[in-house]
Amino acid sequence: MVEVNSVLHFHNTENNRKEPFKPLVEGKAGLYTCGPTVYDYAHIGNFRAYLFEDVLRRYLEFRGYEVNHVMNLTDVEDKIIRRARETGKTIYECTAPYIDAFFEDLDTLNIKRANQYPRATEHIEEMLSMIRTLRDKGFTYEKDGSIYFRIREFKEYGRLSGVRPEDVLSGARIDSDEYEKDDARDFVLWKAKKEGEHFWETEFGEGRPGWHLECSAMSIKYLGEQFDIHCGGEDNIFPHHENEIAQSEGCSGKKFVNYWLHCRHLLVDGEKMSKSKGNFFTLRSLLDKGFHPMAIRFFIISNHYRSPLNLTMDSLQAAHSAWSRIMDFRQRVKERIASNVEAPKQIDLQREMDACLTRFIEHMDDDLDTPRASSALFDFIRDANKIFDSEAVGSKQAQEALELLDRVDETFGVMKEDEALLDDEVDQLIQERQDARKNRNFARADEIRDLLAGKGIILEDTREGVRWKRR
Ligand code: AMP
Ligand code: ZN
Repeated sequence: MVEVNSVLHFHNTENNRKEPFKPLVEGKAGLYTCGPTVYDYAHIGNFRAYLFEDVLRRYLEFRGYEVNHVMNLTDVEDKIIRRARETGKTIYECTAPYIDAFFEDLDTLNIKRANQYPRATEHIEEMLSMIRTLRDKGFTYEKDGSIYFRIREFKEYGRLSGVRPEDVLSGARIDSDEYEKDDARDFVLWKAKKEGEHFWETEFGEGRPGWHLECSAMSIKYLGEQFDIHCGGEDNIFPHHENEIAQSEGCSGKKFVNYWLHCRHLLVDGEKMSKSKGNFFTLRSLLDKGFHPMAIRFFIISNHYRSPLNLTMDSLQAAHSAWSRIMDFRQRVKERIASNVEAPKQIDLQREMDACLTRFIEHMDDDLDTPRASSALFDFIRDANKIFDSEAVGSKQAQEALELLDRVDETFGVMKEDEALLDDEVDQLIQERQDARKNRNFARADEIRDLLAGKGIILEDTREGVRWKRR
């Protein structure tokens, strides 16, 4: 076991400082991450947020914390209601296919499932109860059938984002779930029904909840009035998370969240990737271009979550090559294990392995510095490859190298192999392709090559026969 002297630190948006992580309960971490609005496919920008949160959650687990991770599904909101009205469907019919697609995409990107995925539509009672408390404490007022939160009443409004309530014009209200940075307004907790819209019948009248309220209600329900970490993309800082603090602390009178972590945006040509700008790629569209899902994952997670990241086909290609280096090395290690070579322990290799793991932990402890943690891995691969080239590394030590890769991958999650085909199945298909060629059935031979390519198997015709490797 390597010796590690570093302490896990996170950059806290609330005070713009790196702080040591001290959970409320020793050994446990409560984590709430804002989830998707399920009116369409999530784009790869959204997945930057979910991948950063996945790495955070995995690394907390790597560091021995028992994580309770909750992610909401926003299944009622302005855009969903509009879509339902336009198509004549219910909001549930509008969201169901995208909820399925979301979970499929999580699996494709090897994102671990949260412990809970509460849905807004199933927590209306919890939201009403918060409105009741806020009303009784004097934070709310009613106007035209909607209930608003008066932000001037919450003395600490602006603590997270710096947007001051003094800037709000008296009575300036906002009904929309999303609004511009720095635009302080009284925000809506409960929206009066408009004709033809989905609504709930309640003591506050017919209507539906505001978006901000759902995250307060569901995080408190599943994680308590106080919990450790709350995350999202940087666009969530204001107004969404600022409003969550106002509602939650307005209700409980206690500090809501201790660590606020936000990832910078994924950009396209220097602009935020977003649905409304139309400059987005879905995961599916990148897979159609031939990128391996694990290379896409590596592209995103190997960049620091607090640096802006520009998506280009060249940068994805470069990430694909880097990721292939990891996978090629892993394959080499596995072949060495399988070869059952006995050899004395290589001290040099042991030293490289220890250095890799120590550096990996120190960098990840430093606010999840994945670029430097990746460098530690690549330095190890470079040096270990040389040792594998020049000296006999035995199977037993190769097994230890594989265990190191697996340790790193508990956090990175990029070394998942294409499981669909086992080695034997690949061999069988290659044999079938050879037979098809012999019988001049070139169509079938090509079909098999394409099928294998789709599963990430690359064939190479050599004089000694067909060789293959995984992409
Ligand atoms: P939404 O469905 O718009 O509420 O977004 C879901 C999550 O994705 C939130 O945490 C957003 O902050 C995040 N997000 C949206 N667009 C981007 C982007 N271009 N880059 C990174 N995160 C994003
Ligand atoms: Zn939220």
